[in-house]
Amino acid sequence: SAFQAPPVLTLDELIAQRDDALRDYEALVRRGLSLDLTRGKPSARQLDLASRMLTLPSGHKAADGTDCRNYGGLQGLSELRAIFSGSLQVPVAQLVAAGNSSLSLMHDSIVHAMLGRLPGAERRWADEPRIAFLCPVPGYDRHFALCERFGIELIPVPMTDEGPDMDVVERLALEDPQIKGIWCVPKYSNPSGVSYGDETVRRLAAMPVAAPDFRIFWDNAYAVHHLTDTPAEIADLLALCEENGNPDRAFVFGSTSKITFAGGGVAFFGSSAANVAWLLGYTAKRTIGPDKINHLRHVEFLRDEDGLAEHMRHHRELIRPKFDAVETILTKELGGTGLASWSNPAGGYFISLDVLEGCAREVVSRAAGAGIALTPAGATHPYGNDPRDSTIRIAPTYPELDEVELAITGLATCVRLVGTEKLLEQAR
Ligand code: PMP
Repeated sequence: SAFQAPPVLTLDELIAQRDDALRDYEALVRRGLSLDLTRGKPSARQLDLASRMLTLPSGHKAADGTDCRNYGGLQGLSELRAIFSGSLQVPVAQLVAAGNSSLSLMHDSIVHAMLGRLPGAERRWADEPRIAFLCPVPGYDRHFALCERFGIELIPVPMTDEGPDMDVVERLALEDPQIKGIWCVPKYSNPSGVSYGDETVRRLAAMPVAAPDFRIFWDNAYAVHHLTDTPAEIADLLALCEENGNPDRAFVFGSTSKITFAGGGVAFFGSSAANVAWLLGYTAKRTIGPDKINHLRHVEFLRDEDGLAEHMRHHRELIRPKFDAVETILTKELGGTGLASWSNPAGGYFISLDVLEGCAREVVSRAAGAGIALTPAGATHPYGNDPRDSTIRIAPTYPELDEVELAITGLATCVRLVGTEKLLEQAR
């Protein structure tokens, strides 16, 4: 929903609304709730969908006869890579199946770029006077935290309905050779739900940049996580980079964390042949090979691309009602008040709620006071600083449906209370 202009209210009407909200808030606090909407975790029921994996694999031989119990196979089982090649838009030969966390692959990519030399780089990032990444906002707090940990400067770029504002991205990437990367969650973005438009992807692939070792960190974490019958399709970044003479520009990441087990899935890295050789060269120094038993278990369980799609439909059946509940309750409680706008995503794990400027921290704090835990306001922005103090991330997948309903109704009460207090303050 878009922000609607607040209805014109008299001071008395505004005071009455604030008093209403305060009464509701006090009743909410008295209920003594304890609800958690902080992290985008699958619920126990979602994890149950993959329970059969605990009895797999039934054998130990890979398709090519490899004994998966033994060492080796650094790039991961090719039959597993084949299942994910289409949805991640990476040819099987250029896809790596690794351990259980794509975040750790992003971490390692940065560490190797720091301590080793990326294809095309003039020097190690550790030897650069300064390193900066472009961060479309709102974005994913763990991307930002990872950069902060290594002293990489974070430069916010506004998001549009089609992805990052490419006029800003193109200008900054061209004028500053210390900008070495950009974070992108191209499909059902965390937290806005935006999927990048074709023109955005083409411009990212084709734009001239100042740094010869510029990389797009393409975190396609929600590639198959659709909530509707019309799955979002995004353009093929890797192919477009190649076509536009920038073959080494894209680092593609993904994982089965929100497909099978969040703590026991498989993570993927895909890129040009040169980048894959670069990563595997360093990876060979830290492991003799990945957990191929887990790879095999995933192959037996998911079978093929159709099996994957069918499995994701079962996830959708479980989480769609929760997203619908958020939309219904926010519309009922806040629609037409001018106090908030929110996303209605077609996939992914998050809803982004924008409240009146200067209100997000107070809403989160009021919610905490009523036993409703939300992701800290500001987490969606670099350094935890949302300059408008407006964006709140809602993660509805983990709690049961009735808990989501309670929590969102309570959150809406907090938005009404803080919003009307803000308007009163401005009116006085
Ligand atoms: N990227 C994004 C955009 C995410 O939302 C998440 C999980 N919240 C991750 C990465 C984490 O992925 P993994 O479990 O593969 O480390």
